[in-house]
Amino acid sequence: MVWGMKNTNPIPPSATVPPTRTANPVRPVSALSEDELVVLFKSLGEPAFRVTQLREFVFRKGVAGYEGVTNLSKPLRAKLEQAAPLYEMEFSQASAGDDATKWLWKARDGALIESVQIRVPGRLTSCLSSQVGCAMGCVFCATGLSGFERHLQAHEILEQYLQMWGRSGQHATHVVFMGMGEPLHNFDAVIQAIHMLNAPPPKGCAIGARRITISTVGIPQGIRRLAGERLQLELAVSLHAPDDETRAKLIPVARRHPIREVMDAVREFSRLARRIVTYEYVLLSGVNDSEEQARELVGLLKDHPCKVNLIPFNAVDGAAFSRPALEVQERFKAILDKAHLPTTIRFSKGRAVDAACGQLRRRATVPQSSPEHVAAQNTMP
Ligand code: SAH
Ligand code: SF4
Repeated sequence: MVWGMKNTNPIPPSATVPPTRTANPVRPVSALSEDELVVLFKSLGEPAFRVTQLREFVFRKGVAGYEGVTNLSKPLRAKLEQAAPLYEMEFSQASAGDDATKWLWKARDGALIESVQIRVPGRLTSCLSSQVGCAMGCVFCATGLSGFERHLQAHEILEQYLQMWGRSGQHATHVVFMGMGEPLHNFDAVIQAIHMLNAPPPKGCAIGARRITISTVGIPQGIRRLAGERLQLELAVSLHAPDDETRAKLIPVARRHPIREVMDAVREFSRLARRIVTYEYVLLSGVNDSEEQARELVGLLKDHPCKVNLIPFNAVDGAAFSRPALEVQERFKAILDKAHLPTTIRFSKGRAVDAACGQLRRRATVPQSSPEHVAAQNTMP
């Protein structure tokens, strides 16, 4: 359980606990339930209300470690430091570009986890990972090409948000699950983390559900389960083709989930959450960017209240695709616009630090001045 949640609905350990962990390790405060925290504080001779003071402070202010929790005495902070660390993931690297900062963390079992802060005027978005790698294997995505290692635990997801805030001093207003992994494949841990992000202090970070976006490859039963949570989350569904045949070539898991089934589940989500869903569509030159495919997409979505987000392909080692020319992107969009489908082209943030959509693959960023980095930039479309 995480950091103050009552242990009423425990996640099956097999779903979240990586097998390489040692028996009975010291657990970080971020992973403890409210009851467990009270027991910890009592063992240190501290009253239960100090637990509330700690959580209230961390969720309202954002801190990098105990040294920042200035509403608790120094001796208590020193005792806590010994008894249980505040966070579990070790900071490994931060690479800042103009519009995004990529953060790399090392989990207790050594797994590398990436997160990104994305800046646009008036908004800071935390882009979180839900898994180490991804099992869906999309052929245009660096994470998919790197394979699946394990699910993240709820506190590892929450820590990405809290540690980015604490270390940068910048408070994100929005959260998107668009980092590594398929969030609906790690459903329980993701939902648990979302409850923590959404709850008001001292139980959570008070981010409105409408400011939290889950992006999914399109798993119908996961979308229906999400609908049942009755959270007014933003949902983005990766469509990438108007027909099952092309989609299955790009997203291996789509062979099991025809577009029709995905859209039925999306309709149910829209109805129960009362939200208009966004379809994401990675534009790949010569694969899914023709005028005919744009018209097919219109046919598919015209009676379905939704938005469309076109994402020009970001270069990935080992993915033999390229980004369509600007005129091709604009022509595709114009066909959707003409049919009154609200459509945007996403200008991906973070390309300079390999942190844009689809570029996360568990490795450190090469310094910008190095020959390897320059070569990588030159291959970008
Ligand atoms: N697993 C989820 C969320 C993570 S990926 C999903 O697939 O939706 C977030 C978005 O980035 C998805 O729409 C995904 O298709 C897109 N993406 C992946 N690789 C990309 C690439 N190389 N260029 C542009 N977008 C990419
Ligand atoms: Fe996984 Fe999403 Fe990448 Fe597909 S696009 S491999 S679902 S992270």
